Amino acid sequence: MILVKDGRVIDPATGTDEILDIVIKEGRIHRMGKYHAGDAYERVVDAKGLVVAPGFVDTHVHFRDPGLTHKEDLATGAAAAARGGYTMVVCMANTSPVVDSAEALQDVLKRAEKLPVRLHQVATVTEGMKGKALVDMAVLQKAGAAGFSDDGLPITDTALARRAMAEAKSLGAVLSFHEEDPALIGSAGVNAGPAAEALGLAGAPGVAEDVLVARDCMLALDTGARIVIQHVSSGNSVAVIRLAKALGADVWAEVTPHHFSLTEQAVAEYGVNAKMNPPLRTEADRYMLIEGLKDGTLDIIATDHAPPTPRLRRAWSLPRRPRASLAWRPRWPLASPTWCGGGICPSTT
Ligand SMILES: [Zn+2]
Repeated sequence: MILVKDGRVIDPATGTDEILDIVIKEGRIHRMGKYHAGDAYERVVDAKGLVVAPGFVDTHVHFRDPGLTHKEDLATGAAAAARGGYTMVVCMANTSPVVDSAEALQDVLKRAEKLPVRLHQVATVTEGMKGKALVDMAVLQKAGAAGFSDDGLPITDTALARRAMAEAKSLGAVLSFHEEDPALIGSAGVNAGPAAEALGLAGAPGVAEDVLVARDCMLALDTGARIVIQHVSSGNSVAVIRLAKALGADVWAEVTPHHFSLTEQAVAEYGVNAKMNPPLRTEADRYMLIEGLKDGTLDIIATDHAPPTPRLRRAWSLPRRPRASLAWRPRWPLASPTWCGGGICPSTT
């Protein structure tokens, strides 16, 4: 038996939040309470000052495998996830080649069988992620696709997005959408505002996200499809999603720890590390994201873990830097809420 001693046990399912000891027997939680460390235990883990919680689930990650394994692969991604407290991840499909066939999907799922975390893989919505023709969703679903997403790219063709939703609805599949209309973006990765101006960039305004969020919320309402709006960054998008839910749309929404903890100011402070799609936005947006989390408009905290190579990170100047976000280890401190005066104040320590 293993004794995990004096940890702060947080379990949302049972409403537990207290300092407790946990006894683990044959890989399962045997009992919780207060116990003396004695000879009965083969190992005693001192969890004082640590949080002990059910494994985290990340519904949005990029393991870059196959094809981009100089950035990440299944083994390193799974090791990083496990190190960060995650036990289940959902990988996006923008690999090389993209996961748009049963063969590509099963290759990943087969290689993922022995990883230390459970891995689910989504398939693309469109062939080659080109935004032109739908994949064979029925075949991919049968082959084990967790859902469908062209994450990294928006689906700009409204009729195609509607057809995708109708097909997903008929199959009971989930679609996830990356919402940024390129027609409204001067330069991606930095919010259109003071940070972009300081760099001489046109930037990416919140409205580029809002228009596609509004479109897809209304298409979901119309088709009855279950959709996920990925990494919401704009406060107005939160308001749109809130309205869509009130109207009865089967819409779910993700937010990342960086979007509800940081603002465009971080670009000046952290440089290329703060450039991403969609970009970090204003304090007003950040506050609206927190309000969205509090009232359940935003359902999911997902990391969008998407490492570039250190060489690329060093070599590329800010306007050309790969738009990707950080690894897992900072996530829990960023996402760990400090309750103050009835409101949530995200900790940035
Ligand atoms: Zn992503």
